[in-house]
Amino acid sequence: MSQLNNQPPRIAIVGGGIAGLAAAHRAVELRPDCAVALFEAGPRVGGVLSTVERDGFQVERSADNFITTIPWGIDLCKRLGLEDRLIQTNPAYRRTFVVRRGRLHRLPDGFLMMAPTQMWPLAVTPVLSPLGKLRSAFEYFIPPRQSEEDESMAAFVRRRLGREAFDRLVEPLVSAVYAADLERLSLLATLPRFREMEREHGSLIRAMRRQMKARPKGASESGARYSMFVTLRDGLTSMVEAIAAKLPPDCVRLNTTVERIEREGNAWKIETKSPHPKEEGGYDAIILATPSPVAAKLLAPLDAALAAELAAIEHSGTAIVSLGYDDRQIGHPLDGMGAVVPAVERSPILAVSFSSRKYEHRAPDGKSLLRVFVGGARRPDLAEMPDGELLPLVREHTEKLLQIRGEPAFVDIAHWPGTMPQYHVGHKERVARLRAMLAELPRLELAGNAYAGVGIPDCIHGGELAAERILKCF
Ligand SMILES: Cc1cc2nc3c(=O)[nH]c(=O)nc-3n(C[C@H](O)[C@H](O)[C@H](O)COP(=O)(O)OP(=O)(O)OC[C@H]3O[C@@H](n4cnc5c(N)ncnc54)[C@H](O)[C@@H]3O)c2cc1C
Repeated sequence: MSQLNNQPPRIAIVGGGIAGLAAAHRAVELRPDCAVALFEAGPRVGGVLSTVERDGFQVERSADNFITTIPWGIDLCKRLGLEDRLIQTNPAYRRTFVVRRGRLHRLPDGFLMMAPTQMWPLAVTPVLSPLGKLRSAFEYFIPPRQSEEDESMAAFVRRRLGREAFDRLVEPLVSAVYAADLERLSLLATLPRFREMEREHGSLIRAMRRQMKARPKGASESGARYSMFVTLRDGLTSMVEAIAAKLPPDCVRLNTTVERIEREGNAWKIETKSPHPKEEGGYDAIILATPSPVAAKLLAPLDAALAAELAAIEHSGTAIVSLGYDDRQIGHPLDGMGAVVPAVERSPILAVSFSSRKYEHRAPDGKSLLRVFVGGARRPDLAEMPDGELLPLVREHTEKLLQIRGEPAFVDIAHWPGTMPQYHVGHKERVARLRAMLAELPRLELAGNAYAGVGIPDCIHGGELAAERILKCF
């Protein structure tokens, strides 16, 4: 299509989380003349991303880092001039603990989310019983599933590695990332590479061994440019602020909730609620980068079937309780990045991150910062439990687990109800249906964590792709 009225395209972006910001940034990067308006309901940009600095502690209230095995997070940081602000996980503490019967044990070395790269650490781990270990090793001989259909994470892992490895290793690791019910979590929408390994090599163990053998001699994580996860020295808020600073003045409209969108001829009209209402002219294109339930509400008058698909994506919530202690109060050496807690332990805690070990500069000298995750599909009530009830519950379990005595020097509680989209079995097909329906609504795009990945790099990529698709129309 040619450019409408020969004017630079006017693009409205709804939602100022990382996905909406990445979309706005990409649009301006590719077409500096385009007029972008980014509507954000809240008083600041960043959505769930939020760093606070208090009493010498630097606390990430939700995400605290992003993965580097996909390029989009690092790439954006480079384009923002933030490369020298990226920091790596502390190499001295690159290990994770898993709780068994109330005690912390090292996760077997080389156990990558759901497949062992080394058999010896698995053979000697106290986390599994002898029978459980035998059953996991038997994975080598289990024939691959023939069907192409999606299946739940729980079904896949039990089928390949057995019930105990699922309950004691995979379930806690995956729950800590997706805050999901693994009986419903889609394998194909979250970790499809494990299905590919099964298909290609017949077994996860065989696939991992071949991959390790194929690596160039001497290759190790320490030789890589970045650790598997990185963050920014000044916190993830510094990334969203850097993006906002690259946008034209007046582009970002804070405290402005989009309540209705409609098409008028070739243009999109937007109705907003804000303390300083402003006449919103028409837009040539629109990107909805809100959580999917909001997109469903906005699209319902335009396409009921599309709205129904969006509304069907369920969400879970979490809360993060950050606790700072004097090092002398903590009995456990905290010699790792954190611990995950299996559901079978019946603890309210999903995971504890040893934040000030994982990354430097998180706590004043002589103090440690812990971030305790609760809620998810396992205990949805905890995401919204009043602080007065949540704090004592979390403290009791954390302090027992890590042998902590006395009062915390620092507390911060962040609630994130309904923020984690649940990629249930069939999610990929749902997103394909959404995309097909979207094609019927010209110059409208969706971005955000509900569709093709919940992690920050995926959200950035989704926002950037949405902007690129929109600009192709002009
Ligand atoms: C507790 C927690 C921990 C996490 N940890 C990690 C991690 O360590 N690493 C990682 O990679 N990912 C992590 N994630 C996931 C990742 O942070 C999120 O998936 C991602 O930041 C979501 O970005 P988004 O832009 O899609 O949505 P959001 O951040 O939810 O932004 C959506 C925005 O839309 C706005 N909005 C909603 N309705 C309207 C409206 N009608 N009008 C205008 N604006 C509206 C909202 O106010 C919000 O600002 C974590 C998530 C949570 C909740």
